[in-house]
Amino acid sequence: MKRASFFLACWLATASPLNAQEASSCATALKAPDRGCFSGSDVPTLASRNILCRPIYTPEREALSLEYFRLHYNPEATSIDIDPRIVVAHWTDGPTAAGALATFRPTRLGGDRPELKKGGALNVSSQFVVDRNGDIYQLMPTTCLARHVIGLNWAAIGIENAGGDPKYPLTKKQLEANIWLVQYLKAKHPRIAYLSGHFEYGGFRGTPLWHELLKNYYTSKSDPGKKFMANLRSGIKANGLELKEPPQGKRFHR
Ligand SMILES: [Zn+2]
Repeated sequence: MKRASFFLACWLATASPLNAQEASSCATALKAPDRGCFSGSDVPTLASRNILCRPIYTPEREALSLEYFRLHYNPEATSIDIDPRIVVAHWTDGPTAAGALATFRPTRLGGDRPELKKGGALNVSSQFVVDRNGDIYQLMPTTCLARHVIGLNWAAIGIENAGGDPKYPLTKKQLEANIWLVQYLKAKHPRIAYLSGHFEYGGFRGTPLWHELLKNYYTSKSDPGKKFMANLRSGIKANGLELKEPPQGKRFHR
């Protein structure tokens, strides 16, 4: 079976109805008045928390996302719907969420990321950005593709944290916001089974979750740091949620 048809078969076989509160597809979510943003108040097992909506999806971004989906995951794809299975935590290296939003808002990749150019014109982004004071911003529906982690974007929801540079270490409020958000996302998308730091993503290589059609397309990462991931994992565990670490495919750059 060709890889593309194999992928499609896997996709169909694993698709399942989403939580009733979740929009059924990226396209449907984008048509909603809030452009698919969550409220943060509809999971009864969690304390309510405000999620600030800062949508960045445009028709051009949608078109470039489909191009990305076809180039990396499935040449026959007709939608940019993802199947959330993994949450990936990041840091931005910049000091503010406003700066991250300004970086992610253009639809096309800027000129300062030559290592990513062969991967298509779509700009990098993530579904969420967490500011240093713990404010959570949602940039796009959780069912839409964001370009934040090679090999896994078809299944990964990204949380970017403002900071990471030694001058701006991630804060306790960011950790608390991440703990809450991971639990919230698991409640919204019960099929989420993994929590990964970006620096750990190589562990998915060689496993069924890794779908990357471009050969040797890989960049080494250190975000969001081992300490933050250890604290995030112990934080969700203390609240009764245990998500798997990246499986032992080929583990690189740890
Ligand atoms: Zn990252």
